[in-house]
Amino acid sequence: MTAINIKTVQIELQGLGLYKGALDGISGPLTESAVDAALTKLATEVIWQRWSNFRKRIAVIQAVFRSKEIDSGIVDGFVGPQTLHALEVYQHLKLTGKEPEPWRDGILDYVPEHLRPPQKSVKGDPIYKSDWPRQRDLTKYYGARGKNQTLLTLPYTMKIAWNKAQLIRKFSIHEKCHDSAARVFGRIASHYSPEERVTHGFDLFGGCLNVRKMRGGSSWSTHAWGIAIDFDPIRNQLRWGRDRAYLDEPECVQFWKFWEEEGWLSLGRARNMDWQHVQAARL
Ligand SMILES: [Zn+2]
Repeated sequence: MTAINIKTVQIELQGLGLYKGALDGISGPLTESAVDAALTKLATEVIWQRWSNFRKRIAVIQAVFRSKEIDSGIVDGFVGPQTLHALEVYQHLKLTGKEPEPWRDGILDYVPEHLRPPQKSVKGDPIYKSDWPRQRDLTKYYGARGKNQTLLTLPYTMKIAWNKAQLIRKFSIHEKCHDSAARVFGRIASHYSPEERVTHGFDLFGGCLNVRKMRGGSSWSTHAWGIAIDFDPIRNQLRWGRDRAYLDEPECVQFWKFWEEEGWLSLGRARNMDWQHVQAARL
């Protein structure tokens, strides 16, 4: 499942009398224009016209929920906890008369993989946010510097910050951080338009794995384990505070929240320095 369940969208649009095409689960012009028509009708307060088709499909489901008096929060085209709750209610309604499956099994079919919340934390399970190690425990937790790496495929193309002609579609990251970072990039891709990602520098890659010492220090950088990512380093330099750094702008708060919801730490947000940097380690 790589997108919201399009057939469900088609069924709901048909129910609204806005869609007359096949219930084939394939999004074509008929589906997309019905989505637009439904948003025009049901989400008059929202400026959705420039959103991606993907985001509009989520928004239309949210608007449909609202029209059915299922509370899915604001219509923003983004799957957050309230939307997941609404999906749960919706699924149970759909399953009336049947034994409902455990809700995640049913509901998550409607949610693209990269937007799914982390599985429930199991004590001792290292993946979860509260369990990212402290900086002093990095070797114990992540192993030797530069080892245990895997490739993360980006949902949107980035550019090398210091050579924008060089595109980057995947990069090396520690295997324990891969899934978490992939979820965050998915959320960034889904929440921000391509233009917004460029404006804020979310498309400018400043590095992840780099076996080196901390700048101006003697201890090893978190980059040495491939557990930190830098964005737009030129406009967010090491010693710049929020008065100069671009990633402190209000429009970037959601970007940081996506990382923080996975337990990653922004040095900008925590220490008002090095705003380019986010890491899967506590201080
Ligand atoms: Zn960094």
